[in-house]
Amino acid sequence: MSSDHIKIVWIYPDLLSTYGDQGNTIVLERRAALRRIPTRTVALRSDEPVPADGDIYLLGGGEDRPQILAAQRLRGDGGLARAVQSGAVVFAVCAGYQLLGHEFGGEEGQPVPGLGLLDIRSTRGERRAVGEIVGDVAAELNVPRITGFENHQGVTHLGQHARPLAKVTHGIGNGDGFEGAYSGRVLGTYMHGPALVRNPGLADLLLRWAVGHDLPPLDDSWAGRLREERLKAVAG
Ligand code: GLN
Repeated sequence: MSSDHIKIVWIYPDLLSTYGDQGNTIVLERRAALRRIPTRTVALRSDEPVPADGDIYLLGGGEDRPQILAAQRLRGDGGLARAVQSGAVVFAVCAGYQLLGHEFGGEEGQPVPGLGLLDIRSTRGERRAVGEIVGDVAAELNVPRITGFENHQGVTHLGQHARPLAKVTHGIGNGDGFEGAYSGRVLGTYMHGPALVRNPGLADLLLRWAVGHDLPPLDDSWAGRLREERLKAVAG
């Protein structure tokens, strides 16, 4: 945290904002406020420069062409890469996740260069992965079992510098039995839903990374009930 508040930068809502991913910003603001940590959120349009002083950068999902445009603009801008070098937290969903990698598949399957901020490569898969996804999160992250909704054509391969976020118990995720990836404080996932609404533990992980210490627990019984409901639905 660079000052007395957490600065949240919501990257390119005009290009990357499908399936209510913007809800992720609201959850971070709310869960910080409940711990009396002030936040400031900037919704950054794709024709604006990426500020380097953000604490948490959020990227949502998007259709193929807006995803390509977003990747080109972010590469040209360079601000997100600089922020990551200075230790910023990044949380990216689906199209946003893919474009953090070295490359991803465009609308015809053509390779499109990404930002290289995560050691992953995505290609266009044979069929779309659509539906509920459930996974057990890497133990070191200390986050309860995650649930979400996925809708993507891409298949993601992890390099040796990225770790899988979770082992898939239901759904597709990266396509290799795992879901999402992280490296340092850069984390990507295929989960919409929006992911942080359904998984407050993941929101707290990002906040912990941003403030640099543990946070007092909150009453998450509603999110817990939703998780139980989704787990029953996919089991049955
Ligand atoms: N266009 C990408 C894919 O289909 C991402 C889709 C999304 O963000 N929902 O893989």
